[in-house]
Amino acid sequence: MRWWMWAVLLGVLASSGGMEAGAESPEQASSAPLVEPAVESLPSGNDTFVQPNVRLTDGRMGYAHFTPEHMPLRISIGKPRRPPKYGSTKKAREVSIEAMRMWEAAIQPELPWFALEFTEDDPEAPVQVVWKRRTAGTWAGWAWAWYGEVDGRMRVGGRMEMSTTPNGERYPLTIDEVRVLVAHEFGHVLGLRHCLHCDSAMNYSWATRDRVLVTDLDVRTFVELTRIPVGTPADENGRPILAD
Ligand SMILES: [Zn+2]
Repeated sequence: MRWWMWAVLLGVLASSGGMEAGAESPEQASSAPLVEPAVESLPSGNDTFVQPNVRLTDGRMGYAHFTPEHMPLRISIGKPRRPPKYGSTKKAREVSIEAMRMWEAAIQPELPWFALEFTEDDPEAPVQVVWKRRTAGTWAGWAWAWYGEVDGRMRVGGRMEMSTTPNGERYPLTIDEVRVLVAHEFGHVLGLRHCLHCDSAMNYSWATRDRVLVTDLDVRTFVELTRIPVGTPADENGRPILAD
């Protein structure tokens, strides 16, 4: 068993109670080698990488995602605590928004209802971006979709926790690294998980940061996810148990 598999298990264990049930995906900072929990490659005959992404209230893994009723999807994002390398905190916020807009531009042709809206400080927004001074261990960011009861109603939300200085202020991320990080983390907020050997924003590697980030595969996977009703449980093979 490779060490990252333990990380997956620990993530699942850590998330087994409470609303942050989809939590899983720590991202490594640029100073560390890239190893992540992921689907290794696309299963044959399956051209997306939809995976269960939340824990349901009955303890089973299941599926959640944003729907037309959440649109425009409000995202609360302020400036990071510390500036990135060669840039201001304002610029870091701007490129973060650009990275999320990249998903919007890619998804809209397939799902015209998909629209984002950014605010600076709105605790009621379903998606919260939280900037940390630094992050635990070598992770630069961490993001998840959640599905849980708020005020007596089942709701879907997302949370991103990131740092521009994950390893301390001497080693800030560059603006480009912030962009790649946010593009990847936002995929988790949308309910996507990892696909290691895929042409995908969810095939995460600092070594490939110059390529186009949001791909057709990412869009197909998100579209397929949105076809699964929110709250659908997964079977032991990680496939949705759809009602007849
Ligand atoms: Zn990830």
